[in-house]
Amino acid sequence: MPNRFLDICAHGVSELRPYLPGKPIESLERELGITHSIKLASNENPLGPSPQATAAIAAALGQVARYPDGGGYQLRQAIAAYHGVSAACVTLGNGSNDVLDMIARVFLTPGMESLFSEHAFAVYAICSQAVGAVLRIAPARDYGHDVQAFADAITSRTRVIWIANPNNPTGGWLARDELRRFVELVSEKIIVVIDEAYFEYVAEADYPDSTRWLHDFPNLIVTRTFSKAYGLAGLRVGYGLSHPDVAELLNRVRQPFNLNLLAQKAAIAALADQAHVRAAVDLNRAGLQQLVDGVSALGLGYVPSVGNFLTVDLGRPADAIDHALLRRGIITRPIAAYGLPNHLRISVGLPEENGLCLSALRDVLAT
Ligand code: PMP
Repeated sequence: MPNRFLDICAHGVSELRPYLPGKPIESLERELGITHSIKLASNENPLGPSPQATAAIAAALGQVARYPDGGGYQLRQAIAAYHGVSAACVTLGNGSNDVLDMIARVFLTPGMESLFSEHAFAVYAICSQAVGAVLRIAPARDYGHDVQAFADAITSRTRVIWIANPNNPTGGWLARDELRRFVELVSEKIIVVIDEAYFEYVAEADYPDSTRWLHDFPNLIVTRTFSKAYGLAGLRVGYGLSHPDVAELLNRVRQPFNLNLLAQKAAIAALADQAHVRAAVDLNRAGLQQLVDGVSALGLGYVPSVGNFLTVDLGRPADAIDHALLRRGIITRPIAAYGLPNHLRISVGLPEENGLCLSALRDVLAT
């Protein structure tokens, strides 16, 4: 049944396909009547948050009758100090998705172009289309972003360019010189978003920390999140760093109190516990290798990843494999919506979870 209000909703929304999140554990267990299922579908942190963050949440519980600080003063200060920038450069988001959405609402208008790569993170398309922007998709190279394809796709109507570094769901990344040269050639009147949701996981020597470039490029917005290496996905905390003029515009459309009280307190504590982040990153490195070794042993291809997930080429439609895995209580992520119908994205879990996923995959492929 088509929605009866399609004719009166915003044009972009009428053609929008909603984001498909990974299946929650609870809904799988409810549907199948099972327990002990494993979710490796949303690139979460299997280690969980810092104990200091959970202690900060517990300590703040008594204050939830009050609205939080709408400007997030303390968290902004902490983020600014961490990055060595002014607090005026920080825009807080209810997850970094919220910041991405603010960027679209501030800089994109109907008919203006939003440019991102094939196989790029889905939210760029969703928030751009919702505001009526024209979507321009640069072809990928080896599943990754191709800066030359981006450069070729820029027109006089391009307003925002979205670059995930590393990209989700493919896991590839752009090197410092290549990315910086690209940002240099983009007009100052085009916003360049570098989405670094998986920043902490990347150890490659020539992987750039593009927050260092903020002084050079007033049109640059770098987004980061507490959902991945910091283990706070359920609380929804992300942020953008940019020139203060850009941040000032983003903050005009930011919803008051977009970060709840517990999220603000937990993020401040999590940021202060970098040892926990290092532990999460180390665990991820070993788990990613476990997945790489495991899928290689099964004779499967994969897209080399520097994130906390591995995208595996099953060589056949992933949906059927996904269903079979679900029946065994293993939730992974088929990514046909990203133009990759034969690929399955597996988030790195605890060693035993990775092992169970690999053995279930072996069984499913053998049947
Ligand atoms: N960017 C990328 C590339 C992501 O993969 C994600 C989460 N899947 C996000 C942004 C948004 O994360 P959050 O809203 O939890 O910060």
